[in-house]
Amino acid sequence: MKIAIIGAGAMGSLFGARLASVGESVWLLDTSEPHVRAIREKGLAVVTTKGETIAFPQATTDYADIGTVDLLIIFVKSAATRAAAESAAELLGPNTAVLTLQNGYGNAQVLAEVLGKERVIAGTTAQGATLLEPGRILHGGDGLTHIGEFCGGISPRLQQIAALLSRAGFATTAENEIAPLLWGKLIINAGINALSAITGLENGKLIECGETRTILEMAVSEAAKVAAALEIQLPYDDPVAEVTKVAIATAKNRSSMLQDLDAARITEIDAINGAIVREAARLGLAAPVNQVLVLLIKALERKKVSSVD
Ligand code: NAD
Repeated sequence: MKIAIIGAGAMGSLFGARLASVGESVWLLDTSEPHVRAIREKGLAVVTTKGETIAFPQATTDYADIGTVDLLIIFVKSAATRAAAESAAELLGPNTAVLTLQNGYGNAQVLAEVLGKERVIAGTTAQGATLLEPGRILHGGDGLTHIGEFCGGISPRLQQIAALLSRAGFATTAENEIAPLLWGKLIINAGINALSAITGLENGKLIECGETRTILEMAVSEAAKVAAALEIQLPYDDPVAEVTKVAIATAKNRSSMLQDLDAARITEIDAINGAIVREAARLGLAAPVNQVLVLLIKALERKKVSSVD
């Protein structure tokens, strides 16, 4: 299968390396010239606890190098999804499927709007990766990947893509309905990410500290009410207990949003707590706790990211 991955940072590189290693024809496209140059010159190194392997996907900064593909995977951060989708439109053939495993809620909707809803497959992944240096990533976490058609139902191509990802080493299930899993992960991220980025606390400390635990519980309960109003059946019974469990299981982690702010990068707040606020407003509900988290993160982005005016 010919595959293009748009956004070849930590996750795009991980999926690209593994798919190339099992013989798929993989193109990585990224705006980072040093990363693309390193992959072209030395291959893409993936570090795990078992050692380091090198894969040889093709890499470019120019869409014109790629041509049409069978599968387009979008792995930019959510703030760049629309721009990436608009540029990637030229890679589409009549049957090209478009997959997103990005965090947050709304990426699939943007892809559906820009590229056509019948093409889109969305999902969640518990894989974890970090960019160490250009051309070299750390595969730090392994876990299940779930994918589902944006329009619902189990299609032959959904099963084919689940099998492809599984063959590349990412155990993947094809889901009849993906919204419950997207919301399940969204609520976990909504409880942990912004709060850890605002306070600078590791995930576990958010539970140990009574004040942050209270805010986490308020944000999660509010998000769960929005999911309930949308008639989403979450993949767990007690959202607060689930988010608490995840924060404790990842106690030493510094959330991706905390890392983004530390590195003066725009965060994915609009796709996480921002999505809860937007969906609540659409339903005529209020989500003041999530709204405050959004506003505080925006204020911190203004302070730390020079391109934000
Ligand atoms: P990342 O910042 O490492 O990679 C994003 C890449 O996109 C960067 O290399 C950047 O140069 C590139 N980019 C930005 N704008 C672009 C554009 N317009 N066109 C092409 N490339 C562009 O991010 P990541 O950690 O790989 O995360 C990607 C997505 O996966 C996010 O939604 C994240 O929340 C999600 N995710 C990450 C992890 C993880 O462990 N890193 C785990 C699960 C989900």
